[in-house]
Amino acid sequence: MRLKDKVALVTGGARGIGRAIALSFAREGCDIAIGDVNPEAAKQAAGEVEALGRRALPLKIDVTSYAEVEEGINKILDKFAKVDILVNNAGITKDNIILRMSDADWDAVLAVNLKGAFNCIKAASKVMLKQRAGKIVSIASIIGLIGNAGQANYSASKAGIIALTKTAAKELASRNINVNAVAPGFIQTEMTARLPEDLKEKMRQEIALNRFGTPQDVAAACLFLASQEADYITGQTIVVDGGMV
Ligand code: NDP
Repeated sequence: MRLKDKVALVTGGARGIGRAIALSFAREGCDIAIGDVNPEAAKQAAGEVEALGRRALPLKIDVTSYAEVEEGINKILDKFAKVDILVNNAGITKDNIILRMSDADWDAVLAVNLKGAFNCIKAASKVMLKQRAGKIVSIASIIGLIGNAGQANYSASKAGIIALTKTAAKELASRNINVNAVAPGFIQTEMTARLPEDLKEKMRQEIALNRFGTPQDVAAACLFLASQEADYITGQTIVVDGGMV
């Protein structure tokens, strides 16, 4: 019970890595708000949290809208009276080489992946500052460290997450708020299921541990960073990639 009676908001928590984080936190005694752009899917994931014996709150939150994020935080305060943990997980891809990338695809990915995290950190840290305690974990990507042809928007957004994490860690440290990131490698979710088989095979060969990661592998690192065990860690990015980078 490493998160007993804590309250966490997990953005994009309805499926994939976010859902795994929500369920693993719930197994450790945490109550969970699932903030997702898809309200029906959020309700379903909230039901799974409740089945584990914890309280859950499904919220329709599009992280690109500060107003929706703030409204979501207020609903969490109404129900749970605090926000101990924020996990910035919501993310999208819209891949293309730079020459063919539209302004709209550049803007959309930056808006969800980077501005979305900024919006959530801004709204949640207002509460955490008053509490004088909090943990913020954002999901970056190894692509934010090494780049990837065809992912200019995504790589820039994820590198931005790593820098945002360092700055927020410095701004919030005096109030006992830890801010860290997790940079996954290739994780099996719907986001990666769409990739062509030959590309996936090529990537697998580059992974030292010779397997793709699972959402659970990422959730384990998030759980550590959200727990008391990581009280003296801030501004860091933990790579969870099976030795790929
Ligand atoms: P999925 O696409 O499986 O899930 C993403 C979730 O985020 C979905 O529930 C989606 O809702 C939701 N979402 C999308 N846009 C918004 C928004 N504007 N506001 C709120 N929620 C939103 O992705 P993954 O689980 O694979 O990825 C989760 C995170 O991990 C992302 O940040 C991703 O970049 C990162 N990551 C993933 C890797 C991988 O290999 N899978 C590797 C490295 C990083 P909807 O169902 O409506 O689309």
